[in-house]
Amino acid sequence: MNIDDLAKGIIAGERRALARAITLVESGRADHRAAAAELLAALPTDRQALRIGLSGTPGVGKSTFIESFGMMLTAQGKRVAVLAVDPSSARSGGSILGDKTRMDRLSREPRAFIRPSPSQTHLGGVARRSREAVRLCEAAGFDVVLIETVGVGQSETVVAEMSDAFVLLLAPAGGDELQGVKRGIMEIADLIVINKADGDLKSTASRTRADYAGALRLLRKRPQDPEGYPRATAVSALEEHGLDETWTALQELIDWRRANGFWDRTRAAQARYWFEQDVKQRLLAQLETPQAKDDLSRLSDAVAEGARDPAEAAAEFVSRLRAD
Ligand code: GDP
Repeated sequence: MNIDDLAKGIIAGERRALARAITLVESGRADHRAAAAELLAALPTDRQALRIGLSGTPGVGKSTFIESFGMMLTAQGKRVAVLAVDPSSARSGGSILGDKTRMDRLSREPRAFIRPSPSQTHLGGVARRSREAVRLCEAAGFDVVLIETVGVGQSETVVAEMSDAFVLLLAPAGGDELQGVKRGIMEIADLIVINKADGDLKSTASRTRADYAGALRLLRKRPQDPEGYPRATAVSALEEHGLDETWTALQELIDWRRANGFWDRTRAAQARYWFEQDVKQRLLAQLETPQAKDDLSRLSDAVAEGARDPAEAAAEFVSRLRAD
């Protein structure tokens, strides 16, 4: 595969080139990894898409929302890419976005590009691949990249670390009880969107929206937010209500962050985060080699038998890793 041609195809916005490049970054093969690194280095860094992370439990309406929201944006002439981060896909056997018919209209839209989650059990692996796929979509000139995830383990944090704005999709809930949303997720959400605000659920949705708006006001104000953010909106993805308001809210937030230096600062902090994650992952991978496993079990036995001092054995183990 010629990397230069692939890079040119991506820059020209060719979907086939983009799809091939994503397959390349998703590959675990060492030669593919090297080619992917070369490709990423060859791509321009001056194209910036708006990266929107989107999370919600299964059934809340993520794919319906992405389809309606994506169709609205493409109708405005924007190019929209949809990626998924789903560490559970290998376990459950079917990945989110795996079934393209879930976004039937959007998948047929020439300005849209939809890519299912790479199947991998390690969140770290899925995360790196998805982050690189975001970069590829950006280089291919997409205006908006939507990164979807289900709320599994750390996947929301990981998606937030590759997004400019993070949207949490929730269902209308009866009573005034908040839906057991973890505080940590409330804190990373820039926008809480209550979906299914239609039919019988309409008034419940508007009450739920007000509850969350109240809860968000109680959170400490974050420096990266203008007055009134994080916000809560109510939408019907099915009937396509409230989507423009949600888009306006996102744009207002992003414009403010750009004007006040938070966009650049956040992206810089994210680059630092991914660098550190990669360093950690590479070090951890060194523990998985047969030689390292052997050394570890041998030294561990020696420590257990009292033949070796723990700290001294650890030092030897690490120096052996370095020597490899
Ligand atoms: P996901 O699992 O989060 O991707 O959820 P889906 O988009 O597959 O939607 C789950 C179910 O909720 C489907 O039956 C949808 O038709 C329904 N749904 C999604 N959005 C809405 C909405 O805005 N209003 C109503 N009433 N139902 C919706």
